[in-house]
Amino acid sequence: MAIFGSRGILLAAGLAMVVASGCACEAPPARVPRGVRPLAVVAPKMGPEVPRIRVKLGEDAASFAAAVAGPWRLTNDAGQVASGDALDWTEVTVQDGKVLFGSAAPVAGPVELRSDRDAGVWIRQTVNGTARERGYRGLLRLAPTSTGLLRAINVLPMEAYLAGVVANELLKSWHVEAYKAQAVAARTFAIIQRNQKTRYDFDVYDSVLDQVYGGCGTETRKSWEAVQGTWGVVATYRGPSGNPVLLKTYYSSTCGGETASAASMFGGQAPAPLAGGVQCTYCGKSPRYTWPPVTLSKQEIGDALRRSTVKDLARLGRVRTVEVAERTSGGRADQIRITDAAGQAFILRAGYWRTLMGPSRVLSTWFDIGDAADRIILKNGRGCGHGVGLCQWGTEYWAEHGKTAEEILRYYYPGVELVKAY
Ligand SMILES: [Zn+2]
Repeated sequence: MAIFGSRGILLAAGLAMVVASGCACEAPPARVPRGVRPLAVVAPKMGPEVPRIRVKLGEDAASFAAAVAGPWRLTNDAGQVASGDALDWTEVTVQDGKVLFGSAAPVAGPVELRSDRDAGVWIRQTVNGTARERGYRGLLRLAPTSTGLLRAINVLPMEAYLAGVVANELLKSWHVEAYKAQAVAARTFAIIQRNQKTRYDFDVYDSVLDQVYGGCGTETRKSWEAVQGTWGVVATYRGPSGNPVLLKTYYSSTCGGETASAASMFGGQAPAPLAGGVQCTYCGKSPRYTWPPVTLSKQEIGDALRRSTVKDLARLGRVRTVEVAERTSGGRADQIRITDAAGQAFILRAGYWRTLMGPSRVLSTWFDIGDAADRIILKNGRGCGHGVGLCQWGTEYWAEHGKTAEEILRYYYPGVELVKAY
């Protein structure tokens, strides 16, 4: 309890002040670009002790449009490029590696767009074929890529990022203690990704590839309350040397009855808090606690496997059988055996097979396989997601039944130690 205590007390007194009623309460800008909304929550001040995170927004593209509802500045490495009182939607494109911002002369990239009053920087982009407009705290970096496109990266303090994550990872109606547990898991996960992905010009994707992040327009008072109530708290475990090590806080929607081991799901060695086997029928209210049969044709399975980067699979002929070769002690499929028409057998990790087939079609690795000539039928499917670590639907159950975030985290990550990183 101590770990959440001090900030929690501050929060109770502070929330009324920092969470304004529905607007940022700044003087309205001269002109608010169409579709741009004021921020619903005024964020607390964040000093240099709060790490910055770089979030890749959507897909690289030939152009974006940007807008700011208030004073703004555009800079690059050489200094200030442009500024103004409010920025109506402005097209940003790339030409010969330089950035064209509206009708201004091309400048060397990357460029950084900021709102001087933290009113949010807005970007219009197309993601999965659908146009979207979203606002973001911090700054928007637009960087030319080696393939002649533009990449949009939101750079902002970790805590502000988290407010835009937990609101998207959990349902709106869920308990604030569930939100707090999610905030600690999301914070620790993000810090680990930030420490690892040094080969990229960003730290995390804004999607299920890492964590779903929707920017400041999706934040809620509850998501901010959870962030403030767990400010800087991360999950750790005792490493081999006895020192605390950040725990890769995997989490998933619905474990389906028992959590999975990180080692069987992702390979390698897993620390004790990720060993799996945590009993959880508490996610029973999830619409995906069990799922109806899913039919997959052997043709599409073969096509998906041959598209994989695993060399051996390129030799795969027409698929004859698909079987569960091995199960975990909890009952999930652990290894899948594919046999082709020539009798060659290929064995792959069930989690990888699920990724290849599409995680939204094969919801988990907990199923039986029935053979039906040119098709297979996944039956008795349970759970949604990889099932490792915290179970989000189970978390909501515990929160509704009076458990604190700390107790919930200790349940799903046995042996976890919560510490304040800043
Ligand atoms: Zn569960």
